[in-house]
Amino acid sequence: MKQILIISGKGGTGKTVVTASFAVLAKNKVMVDADVDAANLYLLLDPEIKSTNAYIGSKSAFIDEEKCIGCGKCEQICRFDAISPVRDKTPKVSDSCLEQPISNGVYYIDKFACEGCGACRVVCPKDAVTLNEEETGKWFVSDTKYGPFVHAKLGIAQENSGKLVSVIREKAKVLAIEKNADYIIIDGPPGIGCPVIASLNGIDMAIVVTEPSLSGIHDMQRVIGVAQHFGVDTKVIINKYDINLENTNAIKEICKDNKVEVLGQLPFSDKVPQAIVKGVPIIEFCNDQIAQDIINVWEQIK
Ligand code: SF4
Ligand code: SF4
Repeated sequence: MKQILIISGKGGTGKTVVTASFAVLAKNKVMVDADVDAANLYLLLDPEIKSTNAYIGSKSAFIDEEKCIGCGKCEQICRFDAISPVRDKTPKVSDSCLEQPISNGVYYIDKFACEGCGACRVVCPKDAVTLNEEETGKWFVSDTKYGPFVHAKLGIAQENSGKLVSVIREKAKVLAIEKNADYIIIDGPPGIGCPVIASLNGIDMAIVVTEPSLSGIHDMQRVIGVAQHFGVDTKVIINKYDINLENTNAIKEICKDNKVEVLGQLPFSDKVPQAIVKGVPIIEFCNDQIAQDIINVWEQIK
């Protein structure tokens, strides 16, 4: 079973459009949307959700006011400025964000500033601090007409998306082994941060979908650097190549210098937004050149 990751370095290059077409073309696979901060592959795969699962991604501290003696040790140790005494009437964020209401004689914790490090619990002489597990997102296992699909949604303003990527990739791997799948195909996150690094772990081939814009070129170079740093076989697809042939040639030169194969180039097509509006992968929507070029790219990947 081979794991194929589609990444871009930046958003809006057409990564998910290409991934959704691979979902149509690959016959025995599990699909994953690892862009947990802004999942959108489900819009094109029309999943029927079979299970919804809580993701416990962080902890936050809570002070038991019955036990607190107001010594202030927790406030001193908290490097995230999350703990305030009662006498401080200006909360760090706002009253509405407090984990517990301000009352006399105790300290309180601003739940949105708390990083769950647990230092306050260690120093508290009265064992007044507890750490509560926080649900920071959900992940889903679905059936689609293209096969099993695993995706997730991180809660608003929540972190640890790299860990959530690892959770859904592990689930996809279990499903792939159960069904003896040939591929796991992963729609990766944008950028080069923790979610991308979590996506690259154990990948057989990373495919960078780029576009011939200056930001597209810049971010392609960055993400190629990350993928190669981790020793992942990396290829490139140039999307909308015909909107700037000069930049397309620059991309090819950069790929040549970095020993990265260009699998193909896809033309700009106004059918793409139409297919997205319909909620279907582009190769099911039309037989235009772009559809044929995506099929050719998939044949090379196989
Ligand atoms: S360290 Fe414990 S007892 Fe002291 S102020 Fe903080 S919660 Fe209260
Ligand atoms: S758990 Fe860490 S971040 Fe949260 S209030 Fe305690 S010391 Fe501060």
